Amino acid sequence: MSNAWLAFEGTSGSGRTHTGRRRSWGRRVAVIVLLAGLGVITRHPTVRALCRGEIDWSGQRVYAPTFTPDPDALRAIDLRWVHAQLLPDWVIEAARARRGHPHDEPAAFAALLGEAGRDANLHALLLELRPIATDRIEDDGGRALYLLWAWGDYLRRFRQPYWLQAEIAEREDARVLQLSTYHVRHVTDVGVGAHAFEVRFVERLDETTLREPYLGATRRGDDFATVVVDRVEDFVVEDVWPLLDPDDVPLSPMGRNWAPSLRREVEASLRPGDFAELQATATLQRRLRAVVRDVRARRGCVRRRLLRRVDYDGLDDAQLRRLQGIVEHERDRGCPSLTAKELETLAIVSAKLRRRPRLRPAFDALVAVAARHVAIHEVRHLADHAQLGGLDDVLPCRSCRDDMPAAARAELSGHLAAVAWSEAPSMAMYQACLVVAREPTAPHAAAMDLLTTRVGRPCGSGPPRDPVTIARALEHEMLERSEPIALPVAFPHRLR
Ligand SMILES: [Zn+2]
Repeated sequence: MSNAWLAFEGTSGSGRTHTGRRRSWGRRVAVIVLLAGLGVITRHPTVRALCRGEIDWSGQRVYAPTFTPDPDALRAIDLRWVHAQLLPDWVIEAARARRGHPHDEPAAFAALLGEAGRDANLHALLLELRPIATDRIEDDGGRALYLLWAWGDYLRRFRQPYWLQAEIAEREDARVLQLSTYHVRHVTDVGVGAHAFEVRFVERLDETTLREPYLGATRRGDDFATVVVDRVEDFVVEDVWPLLDPDDVPLSPMGRNWAPSLRREVEASLRPGDFAELQATATLQRRLRAVVRDVRARRGCVRRRLLRRVDYDGLDDAQLRRLQGIVEHERDRGCPSLTAKELETLAIVSAKLRRRPRLRPAFDALVAVAARHVAIHEVRHLADHAQLGGLDDVLPCRSCRDDMPAAARAELSGHLAAVAWSEAPSMAMYQACLVVAREPTAPHAAAMDLLTTRVGRPCGSGPPRDPVTIARALEHEMLERSEPIALPVAFPHRLR
């Protein structure tokens, strides 16, 4: 959307969205007056949001609790249960009701209200949300998203470590509310030049199959960035850990070209014992992920979608027994959900990984390392936005074509910063290159195309010789600034 700052009611289901908060007052007033003059004042989303108290005159989202907040009431609620189960369950039942499917929305809502509703403000938010979610999402979807944003803002204000992300999804028969819920595991400020921005490291709590298509995000209406630990873990187990054994040469040219630099950076970032543990298990992790990839690749023809989530140490005995039953049941199918050979590999690899008590802390440490460049990328977005309104407006960029859109320029800035200021610059660049390979038309791809063309090294060729120096020089050359970005010295070794 070109006038993205107006679109407080929109969210993206497939990519990052960014806050629009630094606009001149004059422009906002002018736009509103113009809209009034056009006679659309009562219908325009921004004006409606303003009238309903959802945003202030500067365009920032705001929430004024209906009742005097009672921190004790909030503390008495089992908020983990609410976010892991009750709230996601109700949203699913409400969507089923909306679509005319069999449902038990009344019971799900009663359970949710019985627990979360012990706080008067959460009670009020739920009562207003319910009829919209079940009946009026087409007309009032923006209000529903606002109410759920207000929920998260309220919890944040009282330092309750839960957060949620809602969106309106188009189904073939109706629009429905969709929700992901999170436990906030770590909050830190990350310095960009003389300023600091908040980054929240979150892990998914709901067990729906929704999957973020990003490792981190900076969203419209939020003054903080998030890093999704679950997705960083995916990156680690699928793309980094399997490359750590120098004697197990990757099959893909891209893997071969990036592996030596990644190994060097991971070794330098971890305690020696952790690195040795990951290196010793890299081949097992590669075999495990190869089975997961093969099984998922058959999704078009299989009866069951298996291995949606496979932990860093494989599967437990109960999971393997269940899979054994499926393998026997589907033995004669042309496209089995899982083959006997695949199950055997899963069992062998899982047993070996689960015998290693040092594995968990080593894995956690690698995830914490891999999350750092994601945080740097996201705070660069926050800083660009604070300084230049820069995620909705085009950032000044001497090397960009005039028609390079705002989103691609923002990503150029984020990726350059991640390489320039991360302690694992090759890992940052490699991860960006993987996104390009998977989403060749995304704004990231245009940004990385410009970057890699300028460096003279396409993504498939591996990193340039000194990525940090080059990226800092390119920040000056392209964006006319290069501000240090630093995570706190006490950044943790584990995020879960
Ligand atoms: Zn970005």
